[in-house]
Amino acid sequence: MSQELLIVTDNPGKKREYRALLASLPVPIRFPSDLGCRIDVQEDGTTYVENAARKARAGVQASGLLSLADDSGLEVDALGGEPGIRSARYTPGSDADRIAALLARLDGVPWEQRTARFRCVIAIATPAGDLYTTEGTCEGVIATAPAGTGGFGYDPVFYLPEFGCTMAQLPPEVKNRISHRARAVEAALPILQQLLEDRRTTASSCPTGI
Ligand code: IMP
Repeated sequence: MSQELLIVTDNPGKKREYRALLASLPVPIRFPSDLGCRIDVQEDGTTYVENAARKARAGVQASGLLSLADDSGLEVDALGGEPGIRSARYTPGSDADRIAALLARLDGVPWEQRTARFRCVIAIATPAGDLYTTEGTCEGVIATAPAGTGGFGYDPVFYLPEFGCTMAQLPPEVKNRISHRARAVEAALPILQQLLEDRRTTASSCPTGI
């Protein structure tokens, strides 16, 4: 039986991070693009768990493989937790457009009130129908201007006081040690290892037409 793990994302930033974060697993990591699949899921759930679970279950349905998906976002305290689960769709356009919109909304908000966190919920769906979820957060402050070229999304404005720089200025290996995604993966790894050991996954290529 071939054992592979499908990571249900087409986001290049997430793909890069999952390749590194899951490198210790004894099975190959696949993405929908590797299988010739497109997995389109309406991310209109009301919670990260709901959206992550939908994506992971859609991965199993499309591929027959053990599937992992995350739903993540940036929660800004001065904006009552916005953009939160709407982080990817906060404004149309690019990451730079969304950063500009966020900075405009925080214009004049003093440093001590610019606290925020990244949150990541991972869902793991098995071909047998089981679902597991884990969560990780990372605390920071929204900077007044973008800095750095690493990472993706809101990283250039996510300032980490303990490092004295933004997430986008950290070397990738440091982001992958302290990020919300790294923490969710840390909690997910023992579950994945157990599931892979149980050999409960089934191998399949992506059926056409899904
Ligand atoms: P989703 O999980 O596909 O709904 O998208 C999450 C969105 O949250 C991304 O498109 C980014 O805008 C933001 N986001 C999630 N994780 C990160 C991160 O590690 N750095 C910066 N932005 C992130």
